Amino acid sequence: MLKKIQYNTLLVISLVITLNSASLGAGGASGSSPGSSTASPILPRPVPLVVTTIKPLAIIAQSAAGDAANIEYLVPANQSPHDFSLPVSALKKIASADLVVWIGRDFETRSAKTMAQIPTSKLVSVIDQIASQADSAAHDHSDGHGLDPHLWLDPNYGNAIAAEIQSRLGLPIKEILDQDSIQVLQASLASSADKTYLTHHDAYAHFVRAFKLPAGFPIRDIRGDVKGVKSQYQLRKTMASANISCVFVEPQYQGKDAAVIAAEFGLPLVALDPQGLSQPLNNHAYSEFISSLVAQFKACFQ
Ligand SMILES: [Zn+2]
Repeated sequence: MLKKIQYNTLLVISLVITLNSASLGAGGASGSSPGSSTASPILPRPVPLVVTTIKPLAIIAQSAAGDAANIEYLVPANQSPHDFSLPVSALKKIASADLVVWIGRDFETRSAKTMAQIPTSKLVSVIDQIASQADSAAHDHSDGHGLDPHLWLDPNYGNAIAAEIQSRLGLPIKEILDQDSIQVLQASLASSADKTYLTHHDAYAHFVRAFKLPAGFPIRDIRGDVKGVKSQYQLRKTMASANISCVFVEPQYQGKDAAVIAAEFGLPLVALDPQGLSQPLNNHAYSEFISSLVAQFKACFQ
């Protein structure tokens, strides 16, 4: 019996050698020893799948991992992530992911139940990560509540999120937007320090701090919800005495309220894309994404 198996194995091996020699002969290659042809083929290691909830986190993950991972995101880029419920197809994708990255329960409220079932070894919760890093740096015992969730808009947080993804995937740690580039972008906005603007929703605290810009006036609140009548009245009162350059509109929202207020005060409407709707996913996506946001702010201040 054993002999028969050995004989069959030999037969298969010699057949492989014959086939390989034949194809090598046809291709004109030479110098390869027959022994190397019998080695079992090395199967390519499957590339890990990283699934993120929102596109900005996919932009960070793609820039962090390059070709070492496949990146997919769940919330369609044209939808507000604040009010998104995961469909069944998203649950399937999460189940097949090697790593899942989301902002956190205060941001993607409707995904919290699903995320709670993912083992922590497979999950990066960005708010918790940033809050615990800030906590160990400042000893302020923050648990992430009250932290503006639009963390991807500060390149220093972008780099921190990238480092966490790189570390989880066993990749070397490197910045996705280096400090020199950040300084160049900061300098390009330096002449805008005395100008102000209206944003469609309250999402830019981190961006404004990172790029040393004045804070704008948000039309909607931090979750993208319409504010009360009193706040709207207060905003119009403040606007009358402020040096406002433009009103930003975001592609995720209809922007009707922004258009109304811009017309009322004779201000230009400028598109601002904090979700990277038009940003292709490539290995330099994050640096391109932040540079376009800076360009969009410059367009407002012109
Ligand atoms: Zn938002």
